[in-house]
Amino acid sequence: MKQQLIRVCPKCGSPNIRSASSVGGWLVPTTYYCEEESCGYSGSVYVEVTVDELEDLQKLMNGDNTD
Ligand SMILES: [Zn+2]
Repeated sequence: MKQQLIRVCPKCGSPNIRSASSVGGWLVPTTYYCEEESCGYSGSVYVEVTVDELEDLQKLMNGDNTD
């Protein structure tokens, strides 16, 4: 059984990340943008995780701030 992989932001862990499609098919590295306004990450790197891993990742990134 294969788990579905999700692309997430390497900065905040949000799954709201989109790739900018390159125009004209040039060999330009794809840039990924985080759609979280509080984050604003853009870069050529993203993190790919399973749903289970995403939950752990977001727990790590959120720290122990919640009660
Ligand atoms: Zn982000």
